[in-house]
Amino acid sequence: RFANFCAGPAAMPTVVLERAQRELLDWQGKGSSVMEISHRSADYIEVAERAEANLRKLMGISDDYAVLFLQGGAALQFSAIPLNLMNGGTADYLTTGAWSQKAIKEAERYAALGLGKVNLVAAGDGTDVPDVSEWQLSDNAAYFHYCPNETIHGVQIFDTPKVNAPIVADFSSCILSEPVNVNDFGLIYAGAQKNIGPAGLTIVIVRKDLLDRASAFCPNVMNYKNQFDNDSMLNTPATFAWYLSGLVFEWLLEQGGVEAIAVQNRKKAAMLYEAIDGSDFYSNNVNPKHRSIMNVPFRLADDGLDKLFLEENKKAGLLNLKGHRVVGGMRASIYNAITPEQVAALVAFMKEFEARHG
Ligand code: PLP
Repeated sequence: RFANFCAGPAAMPTVVLERAQRELLDWQGKGSSVMEISHRSADYIEVAERAEANLRKLMGISDDYAVLFLQGGAALQFSAIPLNLMNGGTADYLTTGAWSQKAIKEAERYAALGLGKVNLVAAGDGTDVPDVSEWQLSDNAAYFHYCPNETIHGVQIFDTPKVNAPIVADFSSCILSEPVNVNDFGLIYAGAQKNIGPAGLTIVIVRKDLLDRASAFCPNVMNYKNQFDNDSMLNTPATFAWYLSGLVFEWLLEQGGVEAIAVQNRKKAAMLYEAIDGSDFYSNNVNPKHRSIMNVPFRLADDGLDKLFLEENKKAGLLNLKGHRVVGGMRASIYNAITPEQVAALVAFMKEFEARHG
């Protein structure tokens, strides 16, 4: 298999795919695949419950929180959040890159409908996080929304902001990459297709006391309380993605959990940033304090070489390094399933390419 540095859908641990392959046609001796059985069957409910229990173990999620396995991607949560939580109040949004900008845009739609107000706390330029002294927080905000890891810009906020409102965070590209104290949050959400499993599944971890605030406009399937009361099975869930994500949770527990993978993630990111900083040929313009350990964008000094760099990468089995069109250049997404050896191979390639073209 090649080293897949795609930002999402992203690389999966090979051993997980091998297990899924072994189980595909005849899951647990049932004579069918897991994707062919009813989500209401006792067999499937066991799969679903085990996945939730393991996610709770990995993240230290207490019974004060509901864990929902939903569909629609993180982008649907940009709408679900205001519909469930705005409740006539003011929602504070910090923007630090493309994804938090998309989130505030969706919230503004509902504010325009009279659901509440939206307040832009501060806006980053995609290379840094505005200093807390510049933040304009509202009094008694319904919630404070931010994106701890901006997948496109590679800007990460490592310390949970200290605000009075319930914190709502888009963890799509950093969930399970480092330990977090879930108790600091009102709601954590993440599309599965980066650090968890296949696309189609979205995890929402929400404090139970926030479940009673939904607007009457909120569609049933987007209503957290309804989904919680129905074990995320108000309609047919993404059963196969849920099952596969459960296998990834088991794999991560076998690796030593989030604490152990975090050490590896820090090392992988350090290897890449050291290679970038140690050369005049590559550059990354994010404030080092906020450089993402999951998504590492970088540029070549001569962007005329971008095409060749990508072609040669591909030949070397290092794939999907093209940066997002918003920022250009390159981007290496180094989620949990990317091994240190794969990052080392990328660094070796970069050095060798520089030696030939620098
Ligand atoms: N938020 C972040 C931080 C993302 O990286 C992405 C996707 O890349 C999204 C939201 C959108 O997720 P989805 O495609 O699951 O709707």
